[in-house]
Amino acid sequence: MTFKELHIIDPILKALETQGYTHPTPIQEQAIPILLEGNDLLGCAQTGTGKTAAFSIPIIQNLYKSNFQGRKKIRALIVTPTRELAIQIDDNISHYAKHTNLKNMVIFGGVKQAKQTANLRQGQDILVATPGRLLDLISQGFITLKHIEYFVLDEADQMLDMGFIHDIKKIIAKLPTQRQSLFFSATMPKNIVDLSRKILGNYQSVTIKPEQATAEKVEQAVYFVPKKSKIKLLTYLLQTNDVSSVLVFSRTKHGANKVVKQLAKQEIIAEAIHGNKSQTARQKALNNFKDGNIKVLIATDIAARGIDVSKLSLVINYDLPNIPETYVHRIGRTGRAKASGIAISFCDREERPYLRDIEKLIKQKIKVINEHPFVNDEEAAPTEQKQHNKNPRNQQRRNPNNRNRNRNRNRSNNSRNKRD
Ligand code: AMP
Repeated sequence: MTFKELHIIDPILKALETQGYTHPTPIQEQAIPILLEGNDLLGCAQTGTGKTAAFSIPIIQNLYKSNFQGRKKIRALIVTPTRELAIQIDDNISHYAKHTNLKNMVIFGGVKQAKQTANLRQGQDILVATPGRLLDLISQGFITLKHIEYFVLDEADQMLDMGFIHDIKKIIAKLPTQRQSLFFSATMPKNIVDLSRKILGNYQSVTIKPEQATAEKVEQAVYFVPKKSKIKLLTYLLQTNDVSSVLVFSRTKHGANKVVKQLAKQEIIAEAIHGNKSQTARQKALNNFKDGNIKVLIATDIAARGIDVSKLSLVINYDLPNIPETYVHRIGRTGRAKASGIAISFCDREERPYLRDIEKLIKQKIKVINEHPFVNDEEAAPTEQKQHNKNPRNQQRRNPNNRNRNRNRNRSNNSRNKRD
């Protein structure tokens, strides 16, 4: 199957050729015909599968073919949770729509609005937006959703995780009822299915299983290592492997900053990207990483969602995520589209249950690397337990016999008090 066989029009084919895309990915092959026919779509797929092109190409094609004359109005709206993802989608659309007369732009929060409102005034066909800034500019009268013909809600599960449900509902309420709707989510728990029902009319669905996207293409390995030795293992791996770009995942923003500082002590230059950093700082770090100026980027899950670095050679899970689907998202950063990649995870004692959940989801055992210098480092006991051990009263409390004994002692004290 080629893009030509999917009946993609010449201006888009020409743009795809420049990108080096000749054959559609599975989601594109399945979704494009559904969308070109004007149906609603429920897509269960993660980033890395080619879903951006799967929804943008038919929208561009349909808008182009409608041959709309007159002042430009926003006719397609794509709402996505993070700024990075929004920028990336807009960037892709600019490529695919290069040989059409369509105009597209992106809006997101955390930056001044003047440049965005100036661009809006010039008239646009396609708008990519994060929810907060979109509602803000609607309420200020810079945007109307009255003319929307195509609505895409991207990364719906992440939207809900980030607490955007009310914003999403407000946006939906402002959309015309007559429209084509597309709903994408990497996972489909009940609350996501409920949300999709509010958005979609009669729809067709396409599911690209995470296993397809990960297990087949990404080489995965796990190192069992005590928490305190993780930084040593990371330093060791970065120093002994000739890797060009490494994305390291940290569960917390604080953790990400700490890793950057600790690596700096070993003269490894890394930058962190997470929600506490300004949009400019995040974009600067990302560009430095994409351009190869820095080799190591430390990211939290939300900031890294949608990061598209074509030559990402290695993903390291410095912390294992407690939600197994997040693991799939993370390792999907490497091995994108047709490339293959490597994903390494560090797992301390407390994270073993997370590993089991992940293996259950991806239906495979991850290879354990037993040979590394820190394999025999002792695992520190969890802090809480250590404190308990030091405190004999806590030891007593944990023993049920002691508990009864204490209760009896208290009772007799009470009765003694009464007697006194
Ligand atoms: P996405 O899932 O939209 O984030 O896309 C993942 C990556 O695949 C991006 O780097 C795209 O540019 C790339 N890509 C999308 N479609 C194709 C295709 N048909 N052939 C090769 N690469 C593609």
